[in-house]
Amino acid sequence: MKKRVALFLSILISASFIAGCKKKEASDTSSFSPKISSKSVETTSESSTDPSSGTSETEDTADSSSSDITSSTSDPGSDRSAKNAEYKTEAQKLAGQHGLTEEDLSGEYYYFVKFSEAIESNPNLGKFREFMYLIYPVVADMADYVCEDTFMTDLQKLSITYDSELTGPGAAGRYVEPHNVYLQESLRDKEIDTLPKVLFHELMHFLDYRLTGEKDLVYILDGKHYHPVDTNNFSPDELNRMILCEESWVLTEGGAEYFTAKYLSGDVEAYWDSVSFLVAIEYLMGEDYLNDLFFSWDSDAKLEELFLDAGYTEEQYKNAIATLNNETRPLYSEAPENPVSFDDILIDLYTHYKGENWKEDKNFLMILRDIQSFAPDRWDRSKHADFLHTIKIKSFNELQAYSQELLSDIPENITLSRLTLTLFLRDGQFVRGAIATMTDPNSGKTVPCIITLSMDNEANVKTGYEIQRIDEIMQKCFPDGV
Ligand SMILES: [Zn+2]
Repeated sequence: MKKRVALFLSILISASFIAGCKKKEASDTSSFSPKISSKSVETTSESSTDPSSGTSETEDTADSSSSDITSSTSDPGSDRSAKNAEYKTEAQKLAGQHGLTEEDLSGEYYYFVKFSEAIESNPNLGKFREFMYLIYPVVADMADYVCEDTFMTDLQKLSITYDSELTGPGAAGRYVEPHNVYLQESLRDKEIDTLPKVLFHELMHFLDYRLTGEKDLVYILDGKHYHPVDTNNFSPDELNRMILCEESWVLTEGGAEYFTAKYLSGDVEAYWDSVSFLVAIEYLMGEDYLNDLFFSWDSDAKLEELFLDAGYTEEQYKNAIATLNNETRPLYSEAPENPVSFDDILIDLYTHYKGENWKEDKNFLMILRDIQSFAPDRWDRSKHADFLHTIKIKSFNELQAYSQELLSDIPENITLSRLTLTLFLRDGQFVRGAIATMTDPNSGKTVPCIITLSMDNEANVKTGYEIQRIDEIMQKCFPDGV
């Protein structure tokens, strides 16, 4: 009993010092109401377009807020590590019951016990309760961003349901902030192979919006980031100088898909060019930077600053992000009058952050090669179009030949279900992945699988491969059925 009291106090004391949990400093937990806008983001399993029909945003009353996230001076890590030591045995036992390894926990034992308690007490997860444990490795890796009490409460309230109303070309899933994930009925049967990936993608939206306690519109002023409510007391001069950051759908959708590929599927099944854009960002700026960009509450400001620091004007950034957003969600993000090319955007960033020699960097060229291949009308607008002509894949035959060369010596007889073996980074290594079929060595039958190749971009060869059978993935993801 004494131990429980001590623990309770330590949680209270630490609550306001958790990094990324900025709103706590200004509001007590019982009246905490962080919802600013209600959003809906969805994925598609069939195309790079996002057929979202729920994009309406309802402004909600914001609660009080305070200073910039960077102003936190506490050290949340030491408090968490003490609790991790205390909860280690319990967490390891629980992890074993749910098929997670020590590596999956990343030492974040305390959050895992709380995560499990929240999930097990959530009445709205149905048969997807066990699936929720698959996102814990992401939570553990992003532990510095967790706003503990709001996130655990959100987990307890999360609802995952099928929705027969979810329609539209390729619409497979939708996340509606803060607590609802909807899945299309067809994922139960004819598109069941994509169910794990679609559900994980939607849950990445949930983490994106709720891990830190909220996602918000963000203003930049003098290098600091502000919530809308923070600007209420700004002087006329400050109001005049502040920048309202553009919403970055390329990051929201590309990121949800990219983290799904990294942590679950090993392939990319939607938003290919948006993912490739983020792969380039990760390659240029590092994995920690990309994690911070996606999971922070002020993602839009961080992305804008990446460009402003590289010499873009605000107007140039607006044009760039409008181009990127339009490519990500063409039905809902208007194309700018003078769209730029993805390649030029990335080359500009490369030149600023890494130097002039981008044409000699085989990894970078391989990323560029994949972006908007077969769409010469997009990259022909590039300042570097002549050079890009020498590296881009320009026909389906060319791509098919490349894929066949990579796959030909794999004894399981891999046939891609799509043409594209998308390049991305996992644990700092370049890989390519795609949904495919293979021959079952025992029965001789053709079965669906995901093939992920480790790549050496310098030599343009694979250095290894991994095959996951879809039936085994399904068993792991949905032991209680779907
Ligand atoms: Zn999505």
